[in-house]
Amino acid sequence: MADQYDVVVIGGGPAGYVAAIRCAQLGLNTLCVDAWSDLAGKPSLGGTCLNVGCIPSKALLESSAWYEKSQHDFGHHGINVKTINMDVPVMQARKDQVVKDLTQGIKALFTANKVNFHHGSARLLNNAQIEITDKDNNTTIVLAIHIILATGSSPVNIPIAPLTDDVIVDSSGALAFNEVPKTLGIIGAGVIGLELGSVWRRLGAKVTILEAMDKFLPMADEQIADEALKHYVKQGMDIQLGARVEGAVVKNKKVEVSYQDKQGQKTITLDKLVVAVGRKPNTQNLGAKELGLKLDERGFVEVDEYCVTSLPNVYAIGDIVRGPMLAHKGSEEGIMVAERIAGQKARVNYDNIPSVIYTEPEVAWVGKTEQELKQAGVSYKSGVFSFAASGRARAAGDTKGLVKLLADAKTDRILGVHMLGAHCSEMIAQGVIAREMMASSEDLALTMFAHPTLSEALHEAALAVSGHAIHVAGRKK
Ligand code: NAD
Repeated sequence: MADQYDVVVIGGGPAGYVAAIRCAQLGLNTLCVDAWSDLAGKPSLGGTCLNVGCIPSKALLESSAWYEKSQHDFGHHGINVKTINMDVPVMQARKDQVVKDLTQGIKALFTANKVNFHHGSARLLNNAQIEITDKDNNTTIVLAIHIILATGSSPVNIPIAPLTDDVIVDSSGALAFNEVPKTLGIIGAGVIGLELGSVWRRLGAKVTILEAMDKFLPMADEQIADEALKHYVKQGMDIQLGARVEGAVVKNKKVEVSYQDKQGQKTITLDKLVVAVGRKPNTQNLGAKELGLKLDERGFVEVDEYCVTSLPNVYAIGDIVRGPMLAHKGSEEGIMVAERIAGQKARVNYDNIPSVIYTEPEVAWVGKTEQELKQAGVSYKSGVFSFAASGRARAAGDTKGLVKLLADAKTDRILGVHMLGAHCSEMIAQGVIAREMMASSEDLALTMFAHPTLSEALHEAALAVSGHAIHVAGRKK
């Protein structure tokens, strides 16, 4: 007799494992099935985010930022160090340990919350049955009253640049280089291209990013994107816009990349090439089609605002459904679905999803951009404050960037918060909270912020909406 669960969650990434824990907290007998294995073949929970995404990239961004500071900034503080060299294998071993600790942490959370776990890949069968195949090809059938699909996404591979040994790689390969390439090419100036490009540039690689679109970071506020681009270029990143890659071939352990830009056909020879042209939903081997689960033309599972699919009692969350491919969005969907299965009235506020790019300076935003408001014909007020006028930023020696707040011209409700600068990945939460509480720019202006902090820039931007910023010369009357 097959085991029966109240809920079976397929996928143990930030959408699936969070959903499974919340289901168990609510008293539902829950099984999570996940196929990810470490190099020893052991389960490694956490999906892309923990294994080859958010966490390892942040570990490498941290190490490379320290190295770069040691090269360029220590001297300004009077810290004299004779020689500093980068031991890349040690940096990689540290990253691997961070990943190991966190993936094992999820296993411990499962045990503590009484979430059952099965290492293997799951496929939907009819009559609420799920077939799980382990790495030795043994199959098990389980029964579920509710099913949550959370199988995540994979890098898009393009036939014009097929992954080849460790020369043409995807984002996972670029997280694992054991030496710094002299020249590194990246296809795509998206979030992955910019973050991985930053890591290897800081460590000494000459980085060229080829981006097909003419516009840089089209999803970000234009003023912030333009300003960010200036900083990346100043740091030495060669970002070529309007450059469509048409082919890449490996010759003598190097890669020859051909691309088309306004001037015509060009080629460039590089030591390594990273393909970072987007990610696709993992919905191919789910058994979805056979059961009639509706997918859209790009392979995403069709869901409503509550992540309900076209099949009864089957939900889908995270990267396999509409919306940005972000861990925190998937986790919130996981919590919502768990609570709705338990009879609660949870929802996700899709208008309030923060975005962060972990470059230097960091880019972070929530809500509408200025160009979106213009396009929608919404009348708005704007307040901008530059970190150059922040005492804390001056003391830290990093005055790059600005905070911009957009508020409705009639109601003063905060419509968007856009940040560029150090620690903006942390500060953006203040904008998210303000919007969640439906705050006005005046609410933020009337709030006391600790001095000296970088967060004061948000306070000043809120004051600037009505022309009353304190630390700005030439204020409005
Ligand atoms: P992306 O879609 O953000 O960017 C890919 C870029 O590649 C696009 O700008 C596209 O125009 C370009 N491109 C495609 N084909 C090309 C060609 N032939 N030549 C030149 N350029 C080409 O994708 P990504 O950066 O791979 O990221 C994938 C997903 O992962 C995104 O949804 C992203 O939000 C998410 N992610 C988020 C974070 C974060 O939140 N910090 C970090 C990493 C990834």
